[in-house]
Amino acid sequence: MNIYITLDYEIYFGENHGTVEKCILYPTSELIRIAEKHNVRFCFFVDCGFVLKLDEFRKKFPQLEKDYKAITEQIKYLYDTGHDIQLHIHPHWEDSYYNGERWIIDVKRYKLVDFNETEIADIVYRYKKVLTDLTGKQIFAYRAGGWCLQPFSKLKKAFKQNNITLDSSVFRNGFYSSKNYNYDFREAPDKDIYRFEDEPEKENANGFFTELPISGIRNSPLFFWRLFLLGRKNPYLHKPLGDGKAMAAPGQRKKMLTQYTNCTVSIDGYNANLLQKALKKLQKKKFEQMVVIGHPKALSRYSIQKLEEFVVKNKEINTFTTFTQQFKV
Ligand SMILES: [Zn+2]
Repeated sequence: MNIYITLDYEIYFGENHGTVEKCILYPTSELIRIAEKHNVRFCFFVDCGFVLKLDEFRKKFPQLEKDYKAITEQIKYLYDTGHDIQLHIHPHWEDSYYNGERWIIDVKRYKLVDFNETEIADIVYRYKKVLTDLTGKQIFAYRAGGWCLQPFSKLKKAFKQNNITLDSSVFRNGFYSSKNYNYDFREAPDKDIYRFEDEPEKENANGFFTELPISGIRNSPLFFWRLFLLGRKNPYLHKPLGDGKAMAAPGQRKKMLTQYTNCTVSIDGYNANLLQKALKKLQKKKFEQMVVIGHPKALSRYSIQKLEEFVVKNKEINTFTTFTQQFKV
Protein backbone atom coordinates (compact mmCIF):
# COMPACT_ATOMS: atom_id res chain seq x y z
CA MET A 1 0.00 0.00 0.00
CA ASN A 2 1.19 3.49 -0.83
CA ILE A 3 0.35 5.73 2.12
CA TYR A 4 0.23 9.51 1.64
CA ILE A 5 0.04 11.54 4.83
CA THR A 6 -1.24 14.90 3.58
CA LEU A 7 -1.51 18.13 5.56
CA ASP A 8 -3.43 21.28 4.72
CA TYR A 9 -0.98 23.91 5.94
CA GLU A 10 -3.10 26.87 7.11
CA ILE A 11 -4.44 28.97 9.99
CA TYR A 12 -8.14 28.98 11.04
CA PHE A 13 -10.77 30.94 9.12
CA GLY A 14 -13.34 31.41 11.88
CA GLU A 15 -13.71 34.52 14.03
CA ASN A 16 -10.52 33.56 15.89
CA HIS A 17 -7.89 32.68 13.27
CA GLY A 18 -5.19 31.72 15.78
CA THR A 19 -1.45 32.32 15.58
CA VAL A 20 1.02 31.13 12.96
CA GLU A 21 3.20 29.70 15.73
CA LYS A 22 0.54 27.43 17.23
CA CYS A 23 -1.57 26.67 14.13
CA ILE A 24 1.27 25.99 11.73
CA LEU A 25 4.89 26.17 12.89
CA TYR A 26 4.88 24.11 16.09
CA PRO A 27 2.61 21.24 14.95
CA THR A 28 4.56 21.03 11.69
CA SER A 29 7.83 20.83 13.62
CA GLU A 30 6.36 17.80 15.42
CA LEU A 31 5.61 16.22 12.04
CA ILE A 32 9.17 16.95 10.94
CA ARG A 33 10.45 15.24 14.09
CA ILE A 34 8.46 12.07 13.31
CA ALA A 35 9.47 12.15 9.65
CA GLU A 36 13.16 12.46 10.43
CA LYS A 37 13.17 9.90 13.23
CA HIS A 38 11.52 7.26 11.04
CA ASN A 39 12.74 8.39 7.64
CA VAL A 40 9.35 8.94 6.03
CA ARG A 41 8.05 11.91 4.03
CA PHE A 42 4.73 13.76 4.09
CA CYS A 43 2.77 15.97 1.64
CA PHE A 44 1.96 19.57 2.51
CA PHE A 45 -0.83 21.42 0.72
CA VAL A 46 0.13 25.02 1.36
CA ASP A 47 -2.59 27.68 1.69
CA CYS A 48 -0.85 29.98 -0.79
CA GLY A 49 -3.39 32.78 -0.48
CA PHE A 50 -2.22 33.32 3.09
CA VAL A 51 1.45 33.43 2.06
CA LEU A 52 0.55 36.01 -0.61
CA LYS A 53 -1.39 38.16 1.86
CA LEU A 54 1.45 38.01 4.41
CA ASP A 55 3.82 39.15 1.70
CA GLU A 56 1.49 41.98 0.69
CA PHE A 57 0.72 43.26 4.20
CA ARG A 58 4.17 42.88 5.77
CA LYS A 59 5.26 45.98 3.88
CA LYS A 60 2.68 48.07 5.72
CA PHE A 61 2.75 46.13 9.01
CA PRO A 62 6.32 45.07 9.92
CA GLN A 63 5.00 42.85 12.74
CA LEU A 64 3.97 40.39 10.01
CA GLU A 65 7.55 40.06 8.84
CA LYS A 66 8.24 37.38 11.47
CA ASP A 67 5.30 35.19 10.34
CA TYR A 68 6.18 35.59 6.70
CA LYS A 69 9.81 34.67 7.25
CA ALA A 70 9.05 31.70 9.51
CA ILE A 71 6.46 30.23 7.15
CA THR A 72 8.50 30.61 3.98
CA GLU A 73 11.54 29.18 5.75
CA GLN A 74 9.57 26.19 7.01
CA ILE A 75 8.17 25.54 3.53
CA LYS A 76 11.68 25.67 2.07
CA TYR A 77 12.99 23.37 4.79
CA LEU A 78 10.18 20.86 4.14
CA TYR A 79 10.91 20.96 0.46
CA ASP A 80 14.69 20.63 0.89
CA THR A 81 14.28 17.60 3.13
CA GLY A 82 12.13 15.71 0.62
CA HIS A 83 8.57 16.49 1.68
CA ASP A 84 6.05 17.28 -0.98
CA ILE A 85 4.87 20.86 -1.35
CA GLN A 86 1.65 21.20 -3.35
CA LEU A 87 -1.16 23.65 -4.03
CA HIS A 88 -4.08 24.40 -1.70
CA ILE A 89 -6.37 27.26 -2.65
CA HIS A 90 -8.59 29.20 -0.26
CA PRO A 91 -9.58 32.06 -2.55
CA HIS A 92 -11.39 33.97 0.21
CA TRP A 93 -7.97 35.52 0.90
CA GLU A 94 -8.73 37.71 -2.15
CA ASP A 95 -11.39 39.47 -0.04
CA SER A 96 -9.49 39.43 3.29
CA TYR A 97 -6.98 41.83 4.85
CA TYR A 98 -4.88 42.65 7.93
CA ASN A 99 -6.13 45.59 10.02
CA GLY A 100 -2.97 46.12 12.05
CA GLU A 101 -4.07 43.73 14.80
CA ARG A 102 -5.63 40.70 13.16
CA TRP A 103 -6.77 39.20 9.90
CA ILE A 104 -10.25 40.21 8.83
CA ILE A 105 -11.40 37.12 6.98
CA ASP A 106 -14.29 37.43 4.57
CA VAL A 107 -15.62 34.06 3.40
CA LYS A 108 -18.48 35.30 1.24
CA ARG A 109 -16.57 33.98 -1.76
CA TYR A 110 -15.24 30.83 -0.09
CA LYS A 111 -15.10 28.60 -3.16
CA LEU A 112 -12.87 29.08 -6.18
CA VAL A 113 -15.94 28.62 -8.40
CA ASP A 114 -17.45 31.75 -6.80
CA PHE A 115 -15.05 33.78 -8.97
CA ASN A 116 -15.36 34.32 -12.72
CA GLU A 117 -13.14 32.44 -15.17
CA THR A 118 -10.70 35.31 -15.69
CA GLU A 119 -10.29 35.71 -11.93
CA ILE A 120 -9.90 31.94 -11.51
CA ALA A 121 -7.12 31.81 -14.09
CA ASP A 122 -5.34 34.68 -12.33
CA ILE A 123 -5.72 33.14 -8.84
CA VAL A 124 -4.47 29.69 -9.90
CA TYR A 125 -1.49 31.26 -11.66
CA ARG A 126 -0.50 33.57 -8.78
CA TYR A 127 -1.07 31.03 -5.99
CA LYS A 128 0.89 28.34 -7.78
CA LYS A 129 3.70 30.79 -8.52
CA VAL A 130 4.19 31.39 -4.76
CA LEU A 131 5.24 27.75 -4.42
CA THR A 132 7.24 27.56 -7.62
CA ASP A 133 9.20 30.63 -6.50
CA LEU A 134 9.88 29.11 -3.05
CA THR A 135 10.81 25.62 -4.18
CA GLY A 136 11.99 26.13 -7.75
CA LYS A 137 10.01 23.07 -8.74
CA GLN A 138 6.96 22.24 -10.77
CA ILE A 139 3.78 22.03 -8.68
CA PHE A 140 1.19 19.65 -10.13
CA ALA A 141 -1.14 18.44 -7.35
CA TYR A 142 -4.15 20.21 -5.87
CA ARG A 143 -6.42 20.08 -2.86
CA ALA A 144 -9.46 22.33 -2.85
CA GLY A 145 -10.08 24.55 0.16
CA GLY A 146 -12.94 22.98 2.13
CA TRP A 147 -13.16 20.25 -0.57
CA CYS A 148 -15.14 22.70 -2.74
CA LEU A 149 -14.18 22.23 -6.39
CA GLN A 150 -17.51 21.75 -8.11
CA PRO A 151 -18.52 22.51 -10.76
CA PHE A 152 -14.97 21.68 -11.82
CA SER A 153 -15.79 22.43 -15.46
CA LYS A 154 -15.39 26.08 -14.44
CA LEU A 155 -11.83 25.46 -13.15
CA LYS A 156 -10.70 23.02 -15.78
CA LYS A 157 -9.18 25.48 -18.23
CA ALA A 158 -7.09 27.27 -15.60
CA PHE A 159 -5.84 23.97 -14.20
CA LYS A 160 -4.79 22.75 -17.63
CA GLN A 161 -3.05 26.04 -18.40
CA ASN A 162 -1.11 25.80 -15.14
CA ASN A 163 -0.34 22.10 -15.49
CA ILE A 164 -2.21 21.00 -12.40
CA THR A 165 -2.80 17.37 -13.36
CA LEU A 166 -3.63 15.62 -10.08
CA ASP A 167 -6.40 16.33 -7.61
CA SER A 168 -6.79 14.95 -4.10
CA SER A 169 -10.00 16.57 -2.81
CA VAL A 170 -12.71 13.95 -3.33
CA PHE A 171 -13.67 11.52 -0.59
CA ARG A 172 -16.09 8.63 -0.80
CA ASN A 173 -19.73 9.65 -0.30
CA GLY A 174 -18.69 13.07 0.98
CA PHE A 175 -21.62 15.47 0.94
CA TYR A 176 -22.25 18.84 2.53
CA SER A 177 -24.40 21.74 1.54
CA SER A 178 -24.88 25.14 3.13
CA LYS A 179 -25.22 28.66 1.78
CA ASN A 180 -21.69 29.34 0.62
CA TYR A 181 -20.04 26.02 1.22
CA ASN A 182 -20.83 22.75 -0.57
CA TYR A 183 -19.50 19.58 -2.12
CA ASP A 184 -21.14 16.40 -3.34
CA PHE A 185 -19.06 13.28 -3.96
CA ARG A 186 -21.88 10.77 -3.61
CA GLU A 187 -21.55 9.75 -7.25
CA ALA A 188 -17.75 9.32 -7.14
CA PRO A 189 -16.46 5.82 -7.98
CA ASP A 190 -15.37 3.56 -5.15
CA LYS A 191 -11.75 3.49 -6.34
CA ASP A 192 -8.38 4.44 -4.92
CA ILE A 193 -7.33 6.20 -8.13
CA TYR A 194 -8.99 7.12 -11.44
CA ARG A 195 -8.95 9.66 -14.23
CA PHE A 196 -11.48 12.39 -14.94
CA GLU A 197 -12.03 15.22 -17.34
CA ASP A 198 -14.94 17.52 -16.47
CA GLU A 199 -16.04 16.61 -12.95
CA PRO A 200 -13.88 14.88 -10.31
CA GLU A 201 -16.76 12.63 -9.25
CA LYS A 202 -17.18 11.27 -12.79
CA GLU A 203 -14.58 8.82 -13.98
CA ASN A 204 -13.33 9.22 -17.54
CA ALA A 205 -10.58 6.78 -18.52
CA ASN A 206 -9.22 9.21 -21.12
CA GLY A 207 -9.44 12.28 -18.90
CA PHE A 208 -6.57 14.74 -18.48
CA PHE A 209 -6.72 14.72 -14.68
CA THR A 210 -5.91 12.05 -12.11
CA GLU A 211 -8.02 11.83 -8.97
CA LEU A 212 -6.31 10.36 -5.94
CA PRO A 213 -9.21 10.56 -3.48
CA ILE A 214 -8.73 11.08 0.22
CA SER A 215 -9.56 7.73 1.79
CA GLY A 216 -13.01 7.54 3.35
CA ILE A 217 -14.41 6.03 6.50
CA ARG A 218 -17.92 5.80 7.96
CA ASN A 219 -18.11 6.96 11.55
CA SER A 220 -20.86 6.10 14.02
CA PRO A 221 -22.42 8.71 16.30
CA LEU A 222 -20.69 6.86 19.14
CA PHE A 223 -17.31 7.82 17.70
CA PHE A 224 -18.17 11.52 17.85
CA TRP A 225 -19.62 11.28 21.34
CA ARG A 226 -16.40 9.66 22.50
CA LEU A 227 -14.36 12.37 20.79
CA PHE A 228 -16.46 15.06 22.37
CA LEU A 229 -16.23 13.56 25.88
CA LEU A 230 -12.51 12.75 25.72
CA GLY A 231 -11.81 16.35 24.74
CA ARG A 232 -13.58 17.46 27.91
CA LYS A 233 -11.95 14.84 30.13
CA ASN A 234 -8.38 15.22 28.98
CA PRO A 235 -7.87 18.47 27.10
CA TYR A 236 -4.06 18.27 27.40
CA LEU A 237 -4.02 15.17 25.22
CA HIS A 238 -7.02 15.83 23.01
CA LYS A 239 -7.24 19.58 22.50
CA PRO A 240 -6.08 20.78 19.07
CA LEU A 241 -2.61 22.37 19.10
CA GLY A 242 -3.88 25.26 16.98
CA ASP A 243 -5.16 28.20 19.03
CA GLY A 244 -7.95 29.34 16.70
CA LYS A 245 -11.50 28.34 15.96
CA ALA A 246 -12.93 26.63 12.89
CA MET A 247 -15.42 28.32 10.61
CA ALA A 248 -19.00 27.47 11.53
CA ALA A 249 -20.52 24.59 9.56
CA PRO A 250 -24.25 24.85 10.26
CA GLY A 251 -25.91 21.55 11.21
CA GLN A 252 -22.70 19.54 11.04
CA ARG A 253 -22.25 18.77 14.72
CA LYS A 254 -25.83 17.69 15.33
CA LYS A 255 -25.68 15.42 12.30
CA MET A 256 -22.47 13.76 13.50
CA LEU A 257 -23.84 13.09 16.96
CA THR A 258 -27.06 11.51 15.70
CA GLN A 259 -26.30 9.55 12.52
CA TYR A 260 -23.55 7.71 10.63
CA THR A 261 -21.28 10.17 8.81
CA ASN A 262 -19.05 9.63 5.79
CA CYS A 263 -15.71 11.11 6.79
CA THR A 264 -12.16 11.35 5.57
CA VAL A 265 -9.45 9.15 7.04
CA SER A 266 -7.69 11.78 9.08
CA ILE A 267 -4.96 12.41 11.62
CA ASP A 268 -6.79 15.40 13.10
CA GLY A 269 -7.34 14.84 16.81
CA TYR A 270 -9.14 11.68 17.83
CA ASN A 271 -9.60 10.62 14.18
CA ALA A 272 -6.03 9.32 14.29
CA ASN A 273 -7.35 6.51 16.45
CA LEU A 274 -8.90 4.98 13.31
CA LEU A 275 -5.81 4.86 11.08
CA GLN A 276 -5.05 1.17 11.47
CA LYS A 277 -8.69 0.15 11.12
CA ALA A 278 -9.01 2.25 7.95
CA LEU A 279 -5.85 0.70 6.48
CA LYS A 280 -7.22 -2.81 7.05
CA LYS A 281 -10.49 -1.95 5.32
CA LEU A 282 -8.67 -0.55 2.30
CA GLN A 283 -6.45 -3.64 2.10
CA LYS A 284 -9.55 -5.83 2.14
CA LYS A 285 -10.88 -3.88 -0.85
CA LYS A 286 -7.52 -4.47 -2.59
CA PHE A 287 -6.82 -0.74 -2.74
CA GLU A 288 -3.21 0.22 -3.32
CA GLN A 289 -3.40 3.88 -2.36
CA MET A 290 -4.29 5.31 1.04
CA VAL A 291 -4.57 9.08 1.34
CA VAL A 292 -4.80 10.45 4.88
CA ILE A 293 -5.72 14.09 5.46
CA GLY A 294 -4.72 16.30 8.37
CA HIS A 295 -4.21 19.91 9.39
CA PRO A 296 -1.27 20.96 11.58
CA LYS A 297 -3.70 23.26 13.44
CA ALA A 298 -6.05 20.36 14.26
CA LEU A 299 -3.43 17.87 15.44
CA SER A 300 -3.39 17.04 19.13
CA ARG A 301 -0.75 15.42 21.32
CA TYR A 302 -2.85 12.28 21.05
CA SER A 303 -2.99 12.34 17.25
CA ILE A 304 0.75 12.94 16.95
CA GLN A 305 1.37 9.88 19.14
CA LYS A 306 -1.07 7.83 17.06
CA LEU A 307 0.54 8.94 13.81
CA GLU A 308 3.95 7.93 15.10
CA GLU A 309 2.64 4.51 16.16
CA PHE A 310 1.04 4.08 12.73
CA VAL A 311 4.30 4.95 10.97
CA VAL A 312 6.34 2.58 13.14
CA LYS A 313 3.88 -0.26 12.65
CA ASN A 314 3.63 0.08 8.88
CA LYS A 315 6.78 1.55 7.43
CA GLU A 316 8.43 -1.83 6.72
CA ILE A 317 5.39 -3.44 5.06
CA ASN A 318 3.88 -0.37 3.38
CA THR A 319 5.32 2.66 1.63
CA PHE A 320 4.94 6.14 3.06
CA THR A 321 5.25 8.22 -0.04
CA THR A 322 4.51 11.55 -1.75
CA PHE A 323 2.79 12.68 -4.94
CA THR A 324 6.11 13.72 -6.38
CA GLN A 325 7.67 10.32 -5.72
CA GLN A 326 4.75 8.47 -7.32
CA PHE A 327 3.53 10.68 -10.12
CA LYS A 328 6.17 13.14 -11.25
CA VAL A 329 7.89 12.08 -14.41
ZN1 LIG B 1 -7.80 24.29 3.82
